[in-house]
Amino acid sequence: MFRLTRNYSIASLVGIALVAIALGFFYRTTAVRSLIEHETLSNVSTAQSLSNSLWPTYANFIAHAASLAPLELIHQPELADLQKDVLQNIRGLRVVKVKIYDMDGLTVYSTNSAQIGEKKDNNIGLQKARAGETVSEMVFRDNLSTTEQVITDRNLLTSYIPIRSSPGGPVEGVFEIYSDVTPLMVEIERTEYRVFAVVSFLLFLLYYFLLMIVRRADRIIRSHENAERRAQAEQIHYMAYHDPLTGLPNRALFKDRFQHAIAVAERTGKSLGVMFIDIDRFKVINDSLGHEGGDSVLIEAAKRIRTCLRASDTACRLGGDEFTVILEHLPSVEDAAQAAERLLKKFTEPMKIGGREIIVTTSIGIAVYPGATKDILRLLKFADVAMHRAKESGRNCHVFYTQEMETHAQENLEFELGLRHALQNGEFRLYYQPRVNTATASVTGAEALLRWQHPERGLVLPDKFIPLLEDTGLVIPVGEWALREACLQGRRWHDAGHNSLSVSVNLSMKQFRAGTLLSSVRETLKVSGLPPQFLELEITESVLVEDVEQALNLMNELKKIGVSLSIDDFGTGYSSLNYLRRFPIDLLKIDGSFIRDVTRNRGDAAITTTIAVMAKSLHLGLLAEGVETREQARFLKTIGCHAMQGYLFGEPVSADHLESLLGEVDVLKLAGFDHSPCVPGTGTPAPV
Ligand code: C2E
Ligand code: CA
Ligand code: CA
Repeated sequence: MFRLTRNYSIASLVGIALVAIALGFFYRTTAVRSLIEHETLSNVSTAQSLSNSLWPTYANFIAHAASLAPLELIHQPELADLQKDVLQNIRGLRVVKVKIYDMDGLTVYSTNSAQIGEKKDNNIGLQKARAGETVSEMVFRDNLSTTEQVITDRNLLTSYIPIRSSPGGPVEGVFEIYSDVTPLMVEIERTEYRVFAVVSFLLFLLYYFLLMIVRRADRIIRSHENAERRAQAEQIHYMAYHDPLTGLPNRALFKDRFQHAIAVAERTGKSLGVMFIDIDRFKVINDSLGHEGGDSVLIEAAKRIRTCLRASDTACRLGGDEFTVILEHLPSVEDAAQAAERLLKKFTEPMKIGGREIIVTTSIGIAVYPGATKDILRLLKFADVAMHRAKESGRNCHVFYTQEMETHAQENLEFELGLRHALQNGEFRLYYQPRVNTATASVTGAEALLRWQHPERGLVLPDKFIPLLEDTGLVIPVGEWALREACLQGRRWHDAGHNSLSVSVNLSMKQFRAGTLLSSVRETLKVSGLPPQFLELEITESVLVEDVEQALNLMNELKKIGVSLSIDDFGTGYSSLNYLRRFPIDLLKIDGSFIRDVTRNRGDAAITTTIAVMAKSLHLGLLAEGVETREQARFLKTIGCHAMQGYLFGEPVSADHLESLLGEVDVLKLAGFDHSPCVPGTGTPAPV
C-alpha cells in the first residue's frame, strides 16, 4: 500500500539534504573562484611593484644567472641584496613566498634559498607565464618554508606572472608569488556552513509546513478509502442477501431471519407464522406482458407485500413469483389470517404496468409454529402445500396448512409420477364438445379436449394436469398425440358422412414455440387425410405478444397449409387489440368468463358487445364459449354472435357419443334452441 506521509518525508528529507549540499557547494565554488580572481589581481600588482623596484637593478644578474653553476649562484652577493629588497616589498602583504625564474625555468631567486638553482621546466604555469599569460592555482600545503619561518596547513594561491621591463615588451622572466589565503578560505568555509544551515533550516520549515498539509490530505484520502471499502463490503453483503429485482431479502437471509425468529418464539412462547405467497397466473402475465412487464409486476407485488406487514415481519423473495413472509410474535392464529386478508385486499387494487391497468391476485399458504414443525425447510414446504391448496380452491385466497394436506401432497407426487407414463400407457383420451351455429341450426364442428383416464382416480380434467405437462415439457409429445388423434377422428366423421364438420385442437404456448409444429401439422394432415380447411388450431393471446415476428411467420405458414387459426379465451389475456390486425386470425373465441354473467352484468355485456363489434370490423369470425343458458344464447344472437359452444348445446363427450348426438341434430332443432336446450352433463335434450 502506498504510504503518502512516509514517502513524502523520505523524498523531502533527501531533497533537502541534496539542495543544501548543492547550494553549499555552489557557494563554495563561486566564492573560491572570486577569491582566486581577486587574489590574482593582488599578486599581479605585487609583481608589478616588485618588478618596478627590482628589475632595473637585478635584470642583468638574472639574465646571466644561467651561465653560473647552481652552487656558484647561491653564493652570488646580489642574492642577499635581492632578498632584502624583496622582503621589503612584500612586508605587510599576504605574500609568503616569492620566486624569480629566468626564461629557461631556472630558479634564480627564491625566498626559500634552498630552491635557488633548481630547474623547473615542465611546469605548465611557468610555461604559460613565459608565453605571457598570468596563471594562478589554489594549493594546500601542510608545511611551507617562508623567509622567516616554516608555516603549516595553509591554503595558498600561487601565481605565475610574466616579467616585462616595459608594458607590451618581451617577457624577460617569471615571478612565482605565493599568497596565504588561509583566513579567507576559513571564512568561505564558515559561510558555506552557514548557508548550508540556513538553507536546511528554511527547507525543513517548508517541509514541516507541507508535512502538515500532506498528513491532512493523507487522513482525508484514507478516510475516503475506508468509506469506499466499507460501502463496497456493505454492497457485497447486500447483494449476497437480497434479491436484486425487488430489494427484498433472499433465501439466504430468509433462513437467517427464520432461525432467529424460531429462537425468539421458543423463548417467548409466542407463535410464528410463515406465509407462502404465489402470484396467480404469473405465467400468463409474463407471456402477455413480456419479461419486463413480469418484472414490474414482481416489483409492485413486493412493494404491496411490504406495506401490509408489521415492522417485526420479514418479507422475502424466494425466486420466480414466490414470496414468503415470516410473521413474528403472533398473538393468535387469527392474526396470521388477518395479515393474509390485508394482503389479498391490497392486491385487489389494479396495477399500472406499461401504461395498462391489470388486476393481479395471489394465493397464500400459511403454516404456523408451534403446531407445525420448527424445521425451516419443512415449515416452508407446509406453507407451500397450503398455498397449492389455495390455488386449487380457486386462487386469490389464503389457506392454513393442516396435517391432512401432507397426505394430499404425497398423492400429488404420485399423480405427477403417473402423468409421466400416461402417454406410453395410453391413458389419454380426447373428448369432443360440439360447436353450433344458431343461425344455420347446425353443428359446425367439435373442439377436442384432453382427458386423462387415471387408473385410480378415473377421468381427470386438463386443468389438473396441463400445467404439469407444460412444466415437464411433456405437453409437446402429448399435444402431438392429441393433434393426430383429432385429425384421425375428423377424417372418420367425414367418412361417416359428416363431411362439413371441422375439428379444433388446443395448442399450448410451448408447442407453438417448439419449432416442430409446422412439420407435425403437415404430417398429421397427410397421414389422416383430413382436408386442411377442417382443422382449426386454437392458440391463446399470449402467443401473439411474445416474439411477435416468429409468431407471425409461423401463423402465416400455417395459413398457407390451409388450416384455420383461432384465439382461445379471448379477453382474458392482456394483448392489445391493435395486435390482432397483424395476425392471420380467422376466429375469436370469447372466453366463457364474460358469458357467464352476460345477462346480469352490464360490464360483461358491454365487453362482449365491444368484442363482437370489433370482430365484425376486423372481419374476424366470433364464437362464444361457455354458453349455458338460453338467455345467454339469445343475448349473443342479438349482438350478431351465432357461433356458440357450451353446456347448453353439449358437454365434451367421447367421439362415439358425439357421433350419436350428430344423428340427433335435427331432433335438437338447433335453430330453435330455446325450445329444446340440452341438459348439462348428458348432452341430451332437456324437457321444456
Ligand atoms: P378451453 O380451451 O377454454 O376449453 C373449454 C373448457 O370449457 C373445457 O374445459 C370445457 O369442458 C369447458 N366448457 C365448455 N362448455 C362449458 C360451459 O358451458 N360451462 C362451463 N363452465 N365450462 C364449459 P376442459 O375440457 O376442462 O379444458 C380446460 C382447458 O384445458 C381448455 O380450456 C384448454 O385450455 C385446456 N386443454 C384441453 N385440452 C387441451 C389440449 O389437448 N391441449 C392443450 N394444450 N390444452 C388443452
Ligand atoms: Ca379451447
Ligand atoms: Ca376457451
